[in-house]
Amino acid sequence: MDTIFGKIIRREIPADIVHEDDHVIAFKDVNPQAPVHLLIIPKNEEIPTLNDADEAQQGLLGHMLLTASKLAADHGIAESGYRLIMNCNKEGGQTVYHLHLHLLGGRQMKGF
Ligand code: 5GP
Repeated sequence: MDTIFGKIIRREIPADIVHEDDHVIAFKDVNPQAPVHLLIIPKNEEIPTLNDADEAQQGLLGHMLLTASKLAADHGIAESGYRLIMNCNKEGGQTVYHLHLHLLGGRQMKGF
């Protein structure tokens, strides 16, 4: 795992980790776009983008979503609301090629 997130998983660079289990870790985004901005990433598998995931990763992808909802509750934004984003490739705005789910909340989301 040669991305910056691989280094975070291996504890080679620091991150504010808020959750870890057998399948994912979650940590605060270094450049937060909302009062709560967490990144949820697979920790055992190298999946650069959603395009690279297949049915073997179906459970992992579901686990990422359920982890997001649990973390939203933990951070007090489950009822007020939150947004989940997964960017894919250049025009999707992806900059780190290690699959990740953004959890954003704590303010009114706009757009779309
Ligand atoms: P993307 O644009 O690929 O969907 O999202 C990548 C996210 O990773 C960005 O929101 C960016 O702020 C965050 N990020 C990039 N490098 C680091 C880092 O070293 N530490 C942390 N905590 N977040 C990072």
